[in-house]
Amino acid sequence: MMPDLKSIAILSVHTCPVAALGGKKTGGMNVYVRDLARELGRKGIKVDIFTRCESLDSPEIRRLGPNVNVIHIPSGPAGTLTPMEIFPYLPEFTANVIKYQRQHRTQYDLIHAHYWLSGLVGLKLKTVWKIPLVQTFHTLGLVKQRFLPGLTEPPTRINAEKQLVRRVDRILAFTADEADHLQNLYGASLKKITVIPPGVDIKRFRPVPVKSAKDKIGIPPKQRLVLFVGRLDPIKRVEILLSAFSVTKSAFKQIDGQMIKLTIIGGESGDENLGRLKLLAENLKISGRVKFLGQRDQKILPFYYSAAELVIIPSSYESFGLVALESMACGTPIVASKVGGLTILIADGQTGFSVPPNQTKPLAKAISLLLQNQKLRFEMGRAARRAALKYAWPKIIPRIIACYQTL
Ligand code: UDP
Repeated sequence: MMPDLKSIAILSVHTCPVAALGGKKTGGMNVYVRDLARELGRKGIKVDIFTRCESLDSPEIRRLGPNVNVIHIPSGPAGTLTPMEIFPYLPEFTANVIKYQRQHRTQYDLIHAHYWLSGLVGLKLKTVWKIPLVQTFHTLGLVKQRFLPGLTEPPTRINAEKQLVRRVDRILAFTADEADHLQNLYGASLKKITVIPPGVDIKRFRPVPVKSAKDKIGIPPKQRLVLFVGRLDPIKRVEILLSAFSVTKSAFKQIDGQMIKLTIIGGESGDENLGRLKLLAENLKISGRVKFLGQRDQKILPFYYSAAELVIIPSSYESFGLVALESMACGTPIVASKVGGLTILIADGQTGFSVPPNQTKPLAKAISLLLQNQKLRFEMGRAARRAALKYAWPKIIPRIIACYQTL
């Protein structure tokens, strides 16, 4: 490592990297920020992650691992706020980060901001601290609007993203697809964009023998499992999965007296999406075959992935799709929409099936095909694991550090 990169400030204003995952706004971005920081820390780089303090009980500083701290910055009222509710408190957040930096006499070589809200804070800090700013968007307002018709993202967000594209020193995108959107929808110069996919923790996500996996999560050995994991955001299109499951004949077959269960992990209590999807399952008359488990700790997920016959990601868009990568690392094939990051992760017919988004029939067909063919599932699972190993963090982190060092 070059001696000039000693310390990095990561900004994750609207969501904390140690919050419970699978809630309304806690998913891939939290995991990426947490894992990125941990890997940088392991390389000897000091990392402070600044996030908005949501609870008066949170300690100011929480150690995440060697060289890594999460700093809870007060700004606005306690509690969970939407991005637009947080927006007016960004100046207070910025001022308190600067105050913290002065009080603790920390020094940073670079800022890496996540999501547009953090980017706006990054622009201010960059001029005060006179250091470069790297931006990762995770999702983009104009892309969300394009893939979820009827959705209107606030102009404040779109304008902020346009401003960031012009003013940050580097954009770290996850896929070439994202780089295209940045260029075509936001007028970004490709020269400013570096494409590096996220990594996966292959020590956590690895195949567990099916029997032990089922024992661990308490499901009978003969019960077969079809799995969805993720936030229950409308963009995930879980309703398409429910209707596909309801027309998949093989999903209704009794295998040794055991019905195939569709298991949905994710969704916090009180989330209106959870109510909406449960009602749909009732209307489709499949409630008896669908289990909504709510949020699960990531540590337990490898057992679910390993126990599952297949994992389904029916999203109308995914900027990357960590769930796909985690499932593949556990040796479980995927059926996923052919969109965004999922197109590069899934080799159609080899590591799973890519299906057109927002359509019930092709999804049902692919689920059926895989459920009926154990040999195919097994072969695809092995190929999936092999493909996932290319994204192991030790392969990804040197590329990110190299990108930082160009600045
Ligand atoms: N996740 C989790 N528990 C849950 C639901 C999700 O740990 O109950 C994690 C999952 O392991 C994955 C992330 O949340 O790392 C979801 O990331 P993905 O990129 O698939 O979706 P996003 O949230 O970015 O839309």
